Amino acid sequence: MNRLDKFSNEIFSPAIKIKDIIRNWADNYVMPMRRQYDEAWDDDTIVEPALKALMIDLGFQKVFIPAEFGGWGVAESDYLGTFAALFFEEIGRADPGIAIAYAAGFWPLMIIAAKPHINRRLCAEFAPMYTGDKPFFGGVFMTEPQGGSDIENLEILHGRTIKTTAVLDGDEWVINGHKLWPSNSGGVADLIGLVCTTKPGSDDEKDIAFIFVPANTPGVTQGKPYEKTGMSADKNSDVWFEDVRVPSWYRAWGPGTDALYFREVITMAMITTGFCTGAVMDVYNTLYDFCSKKTLNGRPLKEHDAIAAELSEIVTGIEVSRVVLYRMARMLDRPDLYGPRWSAEVGTKARMYKMFICDQVMKDCEKAMEILGTYGADRQWDIEKHWRDLKIIQLWEGGKQLCQMETARHFFDCKTL
Ligand SMILES: Cc1cc2nc3c(=O)[nH]c(=O)nc-3n(C[C@H](O)[C@H](O)[C@H](O)COP(=O)(O)OP(=O)(O)OC[C@H]3O[C@@H](n4cnc5c(N)ncnc54)[C@H](O)[C@@H]3O)c2cc1C
Repeated sequence: MNRLDKFSNEIFSPAIKIKDIIRNWADNYVMPMRRQYDEAWDDDTIVEPALKALMIDLGFQKVFIPAEFGGWGVAESDYLGTFAALFFEEIGRADPGIAIAYAAGFWPLMIIAAKPHINRRLCAEFAPMYTGDKPFFGGVFMTEPQGGSDIENLEILHGRTIKTTAVLDGDEWVINGHKLWPSNSGGVADLIGLVCTTKPGSDDEKDIAFIFVPANTPGVTQGKPYEKTGMSADKNSDVWFEDVRVPSWYRAWGPGTDALYFREVITMAMITTGFCTGAVMDVYNTLYDFCSKKTLNGRPLKEHDAIAAELSEIVTGIEVSRVVLYRMARMLDRPDLYGPRWSAEVGTKARMYKMFICDQVMKDCEKAMEILGTYGADRQWDIEKHWRDLKIIQLWEGGKQLCQMETARHFFDCKTL
């Protein structure tokens, strides 16, 4: 038995094979390179062989494209959440940076290719780019200089702070604005799912627009990648839009409906918390070897009471975090039981689960670092790598405070948060 499979598996039969394929790919392509990825914050060529192997050679670029457009149709299936959780854990175990570069690539498609809302015209337009023989990257561009959390804080602000504008001119949108931080920016993105407003300052959600913008459209400028603390396989930068023109039908759905399904786009992103449970399973793997081989007073570290107690708490944290992750996946897969993915309740619960998992894995990772002693800070062991990456995951998607506010709002009917 693989040591990692001691943790419970929320697996259904088609997924078992896929999990093994991803694990193999990650072991062969990503594990040997991940330290180099982290140094290459301004060079995206270093991750290309691994991404090409995953996306083109193994075919995983097609995974979320509807079957009628040549894809595998997972986004229109009843197991999208579970599949994504499993998939993201396996990639995140190796490197959350490459995991988000891959996951963000198809993230904009969630608004047009997920059941029950499939926009056939836009799928026909963009699916061929994902089913071709070259890696193709998308991104959802929401965060702006005045604050990312505000844009995701739809229940209170309803898009009022969005400054990137889209003005209809004949049968084209003319877009102006400035975005920060999107995954796959820094020159990587080929297709942008842009969150903008048709009426700045409005808190009518009908004015929130989700518009597809091919990144090579004149007027789109992606800046140089930021130098982050980790996750350098994902590039993030400033992006400017200056009189960018796209056809009017590139808007995903239209007034009101864009905002509704944008909620789902945000909620679905919470399943990337699978990167955390994957990463912390890799921490467990390293810890297992370390405390089996390292001796103290002639006995392996794990045979000492004080250490064994800590080890048991770490694996309990991992196991329970995974239970929470797969509970989130089930909620996303079963709208008949839990409500639609765009509902405030499902969105809030997804944020709660994210908040819990992020806090827990940070604790588990820190405990592991303490057990490794100074080796915990040594890059050779890749524990500090996961510690850096886990912290980043806690910060994105509105950060911890938005999770807290939405949770308090839902359970305590707060009126002013
Ligand atoms: C690796 C990485 C990948 C990313 N990928 C994407 C992406 O694909 N697309 C994208 O659009 N963005 C992306 N982001 C940006 C990220 O989602 C935002 O940084 C995040 O939402 C927080 O926004 P902000 O940094 O503007 O902070 P702000 O929103 O300015 O928040 C600053 C602080 O205030 C807190 N806060 C916010 N609102 C309130 C409030 N009402 N009350 C109390 N406290 C509050 C926040 O939690 C935070 O601590 C990414 C970021 C990183 C690091």
